[in-house]
Amino acid sequence: MNNVSINEIQRFSFDDTNVRGERVLLNSAYQEIIKRKEYPLPLEKLLGEFVAAIALLRDIIKIDGVLSIQAKGNGFLSTLMTECDEHQNLRGIAQWDENQNVPDVISLKDVLAGGYLAITIQPRNGQRYQGIVEIIGDTLSECLEQYFSQSEQLPSRVWLAANGAQCGGLFLQRLPHEQSKEGDEDAWERFTHLASTVKEEELLGLETEELLHRLYHEEEIRLYDTKTMQFGCSCSRQRTMDAVMSLGQEEMREILIEQGSIKVDCQFCAEKYEFTEADLEDVLGDQAKVH
Ligand SMILES: [Zn+2]
Repeated sequence: MNNVSINEIQRFSFDDTNVRGERVLLNSAYQEIIKRKEYPLPLEKLLGEFVAAIALLRDIIKIDGVLSIQAKGNGFLSTLMTECDEHQNLRGIAQWDENQNVPDVISLKDVLAGGYLAITIQPRNGQRYQGIVEIIGDTLSECLEQYFSQSEQLPSRVWLAANGAQCGGLFLQRLPHEQSKEGDEDAWERFTHLASTVKEEELLGLETEELLHRLYHEEEIRLYDTKTMQFGCSCSRQRTMDAVMSLGQEEMREILIEQGSIKVDCQFCAEKYEFTEADLEDVLGDQAKVH
């Protein structure tokens, strides 16, 4: 399976219950993201969990727009973010203090020291919505479960794994009580208990049908269509120019004097953008001529 692209997410539900699930498994889309920088393996793994998580969220929170998860803190990891748009384009990045040793097993709570997780929903047309979760757990799964209980008030469980080649996730959620059917409580307990037995190599190595069969061979499961995901960056010349303009006239002028133009490399995809004085003429104003 290592050589075949498998970047898929699939929804499923258990017959006669109100429990639904999602399973994601990504390889080349994930590899595209981590190869942009020289990440130490523990960070590749952590970033992979974030990528799997955004893919799951993308399918749960259905909006026409961009969804992102961003972790920020004061530890050796300053930022970790992943994003997915409505066309299943994924991108992500981590920034860390390269002078410090990266622990083999990363605890989110430790590496982000007093940090938080922001989940942002940015519809194409409409109000941006942001949910903030204080990071009190060691894992992203714990933080996400906390987010779901806060924002959707639905019992939800998340399992995530990544190994530098593949990343994957499994999600279970019990839908609102008024719709629930008899025996639901037991079913939820049973399904989450069985999912808790999932091993990393199963989450990363088995195709969805096989994984679900291994966990739930006694249950009736309905599988929905798979969706393909891919690496994709939403940067553009205009968006980059907006970011450059936010530096302010004075700083833009200084860079132009020193370097002749303002060069920006997209950190997500390495695309190079360059802006000359002529490009920025309108924002710099007349008195700002540097040459
Ligand atoms: Zn880009």
